[in-house]
Amino acid sequence: MSAEDFRRYGHQVVEWIADYLSHPERYPVLSQNKPDQLKEALPSKAPERGETMEAMLADLDRVIVPGMTHWNHPGFFAYFATSGSAPGILGEMLSAAFNVNAMLWRTSPSATELEEVTLEWLRQMIGLPDEFKGVIYDTASISTLCAIAAAREAAGLQVREQGLGATGAKLRMYASEHVHSSVDKSAITLGIGQAGLRKIPSDGEYRMDSRALEQAIQEDRANGWQPFCVVATTGTTSTTSIDPVPAIADICGREGLWLHVDAAYGGSAAVVPEMRWVLEGSDRADSLVVNPHKGLFVPVDLSVLYCRKMNVLRGAFSLVPEYLRTGEGEEVKNFMDYGPQLGRRFRALKFWFVMRYFGVEGLQDRLRLQIALAREFAGCVDQSDDFERLAPVPFSVVCFRAHPKSLSDEADLDTLNERLMDEVNRRGRVYLSHTKLAGKLTLRLAIGNIRTTREHVKLAWDELNEGLVRIRG
Ligand SMILES: *Cc1c(COP(=O)(O)O)cnc(C)c1O
Repeated sequence: MSAEDFRRYGHQVVEWIADYLSHPERYPVLSQNKPDQLKEALPSKAPERGETMEAMLADLDRVIVPGMTHWNHPGFFAYFATSGSAPGILGEMLSAAFNVNAMLWRTSPSATELEEVTLEWLRQMIGLPDEFKGVIYDTASISTLCAIAAAREAAGLQVREQGLGATGAKLRMYASEHVHSSVDKSAITLGIGQAGLRKIPSDGEYRMDSRALEQAIQEDRANGWQPFCVVATTGTTSTTSIDPVPAIADICGREGLWLHVDAAYGGSAAVVPEMRWVLEGSDRADSLVVNPHKGLFVPVDLSVLYCRKMNVLRGAFSLVPEYLRTGEGEEVKNFMDYGPQLGRRFRALKFWFVMRYFGVEGLQDRLRLQIALAREFAGCVDQSDDFERLAPVPFSVVCFRAHPKSLSDEADLDTLNERLMDEVNRRGRVYLSHTKLAGKLTLRLAIGNIRTTREHVKLAWDELNEGLVRIRG
């Protein structure tokens, strides 16, 4: 493509994006595509000859957009909302343009050092001690996988050299019953197995019961298991509950276990001084994951693993073949040494743009607003005769369900709430997802999109109330 054409189409694409971002509400937030709709709209083979950009851009509107679920839509309240903030998008465009592979310091010193600089800024912003150093991965699932690989390395069994089977050890790790499925997947991937992950019961507010943890560890030791790691969660996926990290850190200290804190969602809130408490005890963790692509307005993907023993993480993964040897010594970081992947994108650039554009205060203001809006919504639920709240609201996610006074059968309530969620989502103005709490189908309203205002939260409340009237006839 000539520079002239690049400029022309580049301007068109930027215009398209600016237009899209200023009116995401013109689309239904949840895609209304049927399965295979996109596949049927496109040829089954790649074109033999190149096509025009005009044709591709036309298909963007015709084929791609209808099949998008619009995470940029201010009515997106499902899962954990993310934000493609404008400075983040511009940073992403530039990193696509540079297209560096940041595997070694010398394959792009700026990418490596900007990663160190931005993660040092974030470390200070969330109040972790300065022994923690960071590394960027794509997702929290991979951050946690790498952390648990480091924990396995720290167990001193030489699993890396011999393989787990040859060591004969029965390794066991612990997490609450509300832990994210990525921890189960780490156990599967690392050869710990699902049997090697023991789920600890939680209390009435969905927080890990630390006494049950302690008992489980003793019991396991007596039965020939080798405990090696505990994963505590700050902001669990269903309810955003916070495990008692200080008590868990005490146990890990006494028992010599690696403590990994999954703060993928909850860690971002610690940027707000009055929310710092959510990371209480995490200063004693061995590793902690936080996802700027969830809470800090950075486009997907960007997850950060902080580790206070980077040498252990490195020991788990570093392997340098001749063709990757460089003359730089220990003064530089080669990020390929800290995970299974060699090639790495230049993700720090978009994060740097976001932090500089909003500033720490700008980020704090937006996070505070989201927390305030969630509390207001929780207040509406609490005052309503037709709805009830099902969990505390420490962050900006509200767990609730419709519960009209005339209904008491749990199965009927589940059916009602499932129908209500489908009804509201089908209308396309807001999108909510669900979970199960104590066997009850629970609706979740997760506020996290940078474009969501009080109006949109009010709209969600109206849609729910009107939807309830419609489905109850
Ligand atoms: C979202 C989330 C994850 C997984 O995040 P990915 O980046 O999508 O892998 C893990 N743990 C918690 C607590 C989460 O909220």
